[in-house]
Amino acid sequence: MQRSWETIIGLEVHAQLATKAKVWCGCSTEFGAPPNTQTCPVCLGLPGALPVLNAQVVDFAIKAGLALGCRVNEKSVFARKNYFYPDLPKGYQISQYDLPLCEWGTIEIGTGDEMRAVRVRRIHIEEDAAKNLHGVGEGVSVIDYNRGGTPLIEIVSEPDLRSSAEAMEYFKSLRSILIYLGINDGNMEEGSLRCDANVSVRPRGETDLRTRAELKNLNSFKFLKDAIDYEAARQASAYEHGEAVVQETRLWDSAKGETRSLRTKEEANDYRYFPDPDLLPLEVPEARVAKVRETLPELPRAKAKRYAQEKGVAAADAVIIAGDPAFAAYFERCLEAYRDGKRLGKWFVGELARVLNEKVTSLATLKFSPADLAALLKLVDAGTISNSAAKDVFAEMVETGEEPRKIVERKGLAQVSDASAVEAAVDQVLAANPSEVEKYRAGKKNVIGFFVGQVMRAMKGRGNPGVVNDVLRRKLEG
Ligand code: ADP
Ligand code: MG
Ligand code: ZN
Repeated sequence: MQRSWETIIGLEVHAQLATKAKVWCGCSTEFGAPPNTQTCPVCLGLPGALPVLNAQVVDFAIKAGLALGCRVNEKSVFARKNYFYPDLPKGYQISQYDLPLCEWGTIEIGTGDEMRAVRVRRIHIEEDAAKNLHGVGEGVSVIDYNRGGTPLIEIVSEPDLRSSAEAMEYFKSLRSILIYLGINDGNMEEGSLRCDANVSVRPRGETDLRTRAELKNLNSFKFLKDAIDYEAARQASAYEHGEAVVQETRLWDSAKGETRSLRTKEEANDYRYFPDPDLLPLEVPEARVAKVRETLPELPRAKAKRYAQEKGVAAADAVIIAGDPAFAAYFERCLEAYRDGKRLGKWFVGELARVLNEKVTSLATLKFSPADLAALLKLVDAGTISNSAAKDVFAEMVETGEEPRKIVERKGLAQVSDASAVEAAVDQVLAANPSEVEKYRAGKKNVIGFFVGQVMRAMKGRGNPGVVNDVLRRKLEG
């Protein structure tokens, strides 16, 4: 018998900090340089080389902590996480373990009644590993150490997420916050933002957590969603067949659309964590936290609430618009020329977002101005064009940058609101459909929809729907 299973997810997100230099040395962090040109004895782990902490890394990590409402610990400790892998030249990764820099924050997902605060357990600083490149020659693997020693923060959530959709929303929210803070570029393809998903399932109603699998290689929102869905179904099916779920690391194979076992998951004590004797405990006085706090921008959720409360934007639209700093800035420019935030918001989330998506253009390369967009919406408000004609005009604006009024004239899209012009079409339609007229007069009032459609067709879609309705009713009832 099929039981009802609940999915439990906790995310571990690694974000590269957008500093110019690495965390323990002065080497550049720039992406795309020829292999091994951004290295030195420190990030190559040569004997005797000592790490020196990059102060900007700490400020960026504090910034992330404050933005998520975390407590910033006055004292935190760098620890060695020991494992042997060629991309880790020292034989250990410098990370933070039982005393991380930031603890206990939240990330908001959903809107209105659906709003939830997902708990963030910790944010700690660590270094990135180098990059193994396999198959460069037959049976040959090489290592590019440029990325080794790039600063990361790891942001670990509590297992509070209950579906792949929630996990995706959490990750999108977090990404948006990091971009707003200017501490991460949000680029998942280049790997500067990465996400591992811990997934378990349990019968609905059960309160204890069951064994989890950790999913890796989720470098797009779609992969995150697909991998969680696959894994949750796999575990539920295992339980239903009386099989066990083992704690392990699994890799998402996007080509096959499945997760597969990579290795059984190490326990923390396999890493033999211990405080790094080369680094003093990190002390962050309150004054430093206060100074970083002053640099916080308005964050996406606060912005979304402001749009909803002050500008009347629908709550869900506001979250989408505020989620992207460039989109939000453009929205505010348009608001200066067009005051109806609710309608403007709908247009942004519907038409503008769709166009940007489909044409893969950016706001910076749009050929029309905020004033043109405002002018377009005003043409609809004034009844000059219909909402559907406005979409055609908008498509033209995107292609050519021509002013909306000129496009309307050139394509003859202006609505006919003049009653006498509408009357001619109405008379013609009524004369051609006597039996439908009978039905209407006998009380079947919903035939009006049929007549509106016919009149619109006769007028090539340009009749003002309000006027068409009025004239029809007048003629049918008079
Ligand atoms: P580790 O340090 O071994 O990776 P943690 O206890 O720090 O393990 O948890 C890592 C992540 O796994 C966290 O995001 C946490 O919320 C999540 N997690 C822990 N237990 C479960 C579980 N049973 N199901 C789903 N996620 C879990
Ligand atoms: Mg972990
Ligand atoms: Zn270096």
